[in-house]
Amino acid sequence: MYSPFQTIFIIAPNVDSFGAFCIYKKMTNDDIKFMQLALAEATKGMGKVNPNPLVGAVIVKGNNIIGTGYHEKYGGPHAEINSIQNATQSVAGATIYVTLEPCSHFGKTPPCADALIEAKIYDRSQSFGFRSGN
Ligand SMILES: [Zn+2]
Repeated sequence: MYSPFQTIFIIAPNVDSFGAFCIYKKMTNDDIKFMQLALAEATKGMGKVNPNPLVGAVIVKGNNIIGTGYHEKYGGPHAEINSIQNATQSVAGATIYVTLEPCSHFGKTPPCADALIEAKIYDRSQSFGFRSGN
């Protein structure tokens, strides 16, 4: 089966995001399913986040979705942070699927990569370069 998601980028928790373990691994069907949900989340921000990209996130624990979020408005919290805030249980040890690699710089908000490491969340993000459009 053809999949656009051939490789993923994993950042191990508790490791500095800049010197992180960066390994490429083939995505499973579950990974693809969760990433598709993250893409669907991302589209909810359409027309509201320009000039930022559309970004969606899904947090999964034990194969259950425990939180979803998206970048809702320009200058507002990023999708990762919204999904952590929407989580219905502790996110420690969970896996996050984000449609754009979590940011590692201080912009209008603190870096999401740091927030994910602090929350002990495994990152299985994939950059899609999704345009916000209008
Ligand atoms: Zn961010």
